[in-house]
Amino acid sequence: MRTWNCKCGAELFFHNTRCVACGREVGLCEACRQLHSADVIDQPSSYGPAQTILQCPEHADARLVRCRLGLDHALCNRFTLADVGNANPSSRSGACTWCQLTTDMPPLSDALTQQKVRRLEAAKRRVLYIVDQIGLPVLAMPGELPLSFRFLGSEDADEPIMTGHGNGVITINIREADSVHREATRVEFGEPHRTLVGHLRHELGHYYWQRMVQPKPDRLTRYRELFGDERDPSYVDAIKAYYDRGHVGHWQSHFVSQYATMHSWEDFAESFNAYLDLRTVLATAAHFIHRGSIRRRGRISPDASNTITPEDPFERMIADYARVGIVANEFNRDLGLLDLVPEVFTTAVVEKLRFIHQLCNPAAATPVLG
Ligand SMILES: [Zn+2]
Ligand SMILES: [Zn+2]
Ligand SMILES: [Zn+2]
Ligand SMILES: [Zn+2]
Repeated sequence: MRTWNCKCGAELFFHNTRCVACGREVGLCEACRQLHSADVIDQPSSYGPAQTILQCPEHADARLVRCRLGLDHALCNRFTLADVGNANPSSRSGACTWCQLTTDMPPLSDALTQQKVRRLEAAKRRVLYIVDQIGLPVLAMPGELPLSFRFLGSEDADEPIMTGHGNGVITINIREADSVHREATRVEFGEPHRTLVGHLRHELGHYYWQRMVQPKPDRLTRYRELFGDERDPSYVDAIKAYYDRGHVGHWQSHFVSQYATMHSWEDFAESFNAYLDLRTVLATAAHFIHRGSIRRRGRISPDASNTITPEDPFERMIADYARVGIVANEFNRDLGLLDLVPEVFTTAVVEKLRFIHQLCNPAAATPVLG
C-alpha cells in the first residue's frame, strides 16, 4: 500500500486515524477516495452538529464526519459526507458507504470478537480500496447486483458457517480472523497463503463474475474459452470430483493454484485474487519508486532472453510483477517468511489475467515502474 503525507509533512499510513506528529484527524475520504488529514471546520456544540465537521482538502465543498463505526467501535477510519445526515447521530446509521455493506456481524460484546471483526473490516477496507482504485464498481445502482458482507460465527453456532459467495452476499466465518485456526487450515489444504484479504478477494472474484461476466454474452463466451464452461461439469459434480481425486499434478501450467482446478468459477476467483495481488504489489512498488524511496538501477528483465520492455501496458505489468516478485521473495526468504509472490504466470494464466484486466476500467491508472 502507498503512503500519504499530512498537511504538516508527516507520513500517513492506510490504517491511521490521527497524525502522530500534529494530531490532525486522519481518514480515508469518501469524497476524494484518498487518505488524508483534515482540519476541523465545526466543533460539536449543544446547538450545532453532533459531530466534529472536517474539511476535505481536495473538495472545498465536501464537509466530512467520521464514520459512526469508527467513532463507536474503532472498526473504520473513513470520513463520510456530513451533508447526507451523517452528522446527526439519529440518522439511519451514520456509517460510511462501505460499512453499510456489512449487513451482519456478531454482537461486539467481548474483546476477542471485537478484535476479529476489526481485523475483518480492516481487510475489507484494504481490498475495497484497491478494487475502487482499479476502476471496479463497489456500490450498485438500482438494477445492478448489490454487494454485501456477512461476518458470522460464535462459539455456540448451531450450524457450521461456510465462507463463500452467493448472489452478491459474501459470508466470512469470523474464525478466519483467528491466526492459529487460519494457519492450521492453510497447512491442511496445502495453500501457499491463507489471509483475510485473500479470502475477500477470492469471494469478490465470484461477485464480479456474476455482476460483470455472466450478464454479457460476449464476455461469457470468452470466459468459457479461457476458464472452461461453468455448466459442465456442474459445480456440485466438480466439488465431489475434486475431493475424490485428491492432489492434481502439473496444475501450474494452466492454473494459479491447485484449488483453481476444481471448477471454472473457482479458477476465475483464484485468478481474480492473483490479479489483485499483482495490482496491489505494483501500486506499492510504483509509489515508492516514484517517491524516490527505492532507487532503480537499470531495467531488470524477467527473462534473460527478452531484454525488450513490452509496450502493451498489460504485458508491462506482468513483466514488472516478475521483477518485483523476485526482490520481494528474497526479502521474505531473508526473514524466513513464505514467498510473497508464489504464482508462476504461464501463458495460459497470463491470458486469464488479461481477461480480468479488461473488466477493469481502462481509464483507471496502470502502475508504471518507470
Ligand atoms: Zn500532521
Ligand atoms: Zn477528501
Ligand atoms: Zn465506515
Ligand atoms: Zn470460491
